[in-house]
Amino acid sequence: MEALKAQDIEKKLLAYLATDRVHPALLLAGSAKEAKLKTVRRMAKALLCPKRLDLPPFCGVCSTCRRVEAGTHPDVIWVSDPEEDTLKIDRVREVCHQMELTPVEGDCKIAIVEDCHRMNTASSNAFLKTLEEPAPGRHFWLLTPQIGNLLPTVLSRCLVFQFPDGAEVDSQPNPEWDGMLKDILRTGDFGALGQHFKDKEKCLELVHYLQVQWRLSALHPHLGTAPSEVFQSASFWEALMLFDEAVQLEGRLRSNANPGLLVESHLRETLSERR
Ligand SMILES: [Zn+2]
Repeated sequence: MEALKAQDIEKKLLAYLATDRVHPALLLAGSAKEAKLKTVRRMAKALLCPKRLDLPPFCGVCSTCRRVEAGTHPDVIWVSDPEEDTLKIDRVREVCHQMELTPVEGDCKIAIVEDCHRMNTASSNAFLKTLEEPAPGRHFWLLTPQIGNLLPTVLSRCLVFQFPDGAEVDSQPNPEWDGMLKDILRTGDFGALGQHFKDKEKCLELVHYLQVQWRLSALHPHLGTAPSEVFQSASFWEALMLFDEAVQLEGRLRSNANPGLLVESHLRETLSERR
């Protein structure tokens, strides 16, 4: 595969932000730190610039664009703290609190967390609830050189955009799940699902698998790893939407007494159209 350039990823990200259904947590991974920083500044302008509709993705010269560039826009919260080895729980809580407050100027607010792998288990856990159910118009953009250093709980809530020279997403196909999904697609017999979903842990396992596979389905040209066969027929936008739904499903599963039914109705909705 031809090496992908940082500009291609940026182009994809800017196009994605222009859609009306943007996932609230994006992870920009890869060792090219400067390229990632430049991209998130441009992304912030693309969301905030008042002239973005006339001059897409943004004008680059208005007061908003200039303050984003300078790091002084009140609705863009930068978490860099380069002198700290660990991103402490207090700092994470403070950012989550700031993100809950009403935006100062427009209707959206962005938190950019550099080197987010510095979050330890406690700070990651403090972050999860906000990442799962953010207020409308809130965007969390996490930056890391290495996906492998992040806790899976954080990773599973993010849509990953891989910049060049970074690590791969864990993406091993699971023959058991694939076989089950293929059977359902072949027979249309969603009732047979019951036997697979007796307990919540098993349901969560499947939902994580769906998240990884839909993410790969959307992004495999950039990640270089194809999703398993069942997930290949979706378009880029469909796959992003299905990824988003799988993330929301995880949140609902955790607080629901009948996870099997939730998973069944999710698969009915998402897979019956793919038959
Ligand atoms: Zn502007």
